[in-house]
Amino acid sequence: MNNKYIYCTLCTGALSLERQAQDEHSRLTCSKCGFVFYQNPTPTVLAIIEQADKLLLVKRKNEPFKGSWTLPGGFVEVGQNLEMALKQEILEELGIKISDYSYFGSYVSQYHTKFVMEDIVCTAFKVAADNYEFKIGSDVVDAKFFSKSNLPETVPFKDVQVIIEKLIKEKL
Ligand SMILES: [Zn+2]
Repeated sequence: MNNKYIYCTLCTGALSLERQAQDEHSRLTCSKCGFVFYQNPTPTVLAIIEQADKLLLVKRKNEPFKGSWTLPGGFVEVGQNLEMALKQEILEELGIKISDYSYFGSYVSQYHTKFVMEDIVCTAFKVAADNYEFKIGSDVVDAKFFSKSNLPETVPFKDVQVIIEKLIKEKL
């Protein structure tokens, strides 16, 4: 965890790391109002879409790492469960509907923006769709199947890197 916040969001008092009774973690705590700022990881989802030995990657439209290839997916919004987020991201980015999905793994990662480093817990799913006629939508500029033995450079996020390594090994 990175202690990226300095001031209390409720009263602007100074935050410092303190350990409460019966809590094994130190938490950012406001010196003025006593607010304890719990920093839990943000949930994200990633989709693994394969065809034979090929893996689908999308090209990012926005920073960070604009123009880099990555797995389709994104942040889970308030009110969504993982499956809802997965379906929505796939529909938004690729214009396709999921017909089947299965749990692949979950990963601790970080997401950098120009302001902060966000702690992430990413859940990856293997996904099958009704069709693969993509209608490229928000957040991406391109989507392509690449042979796993000849993948382009992908975003340096730990979750994406570890998943791709695992997929390449799986194939061997
Ligand atoms: Zn405060």
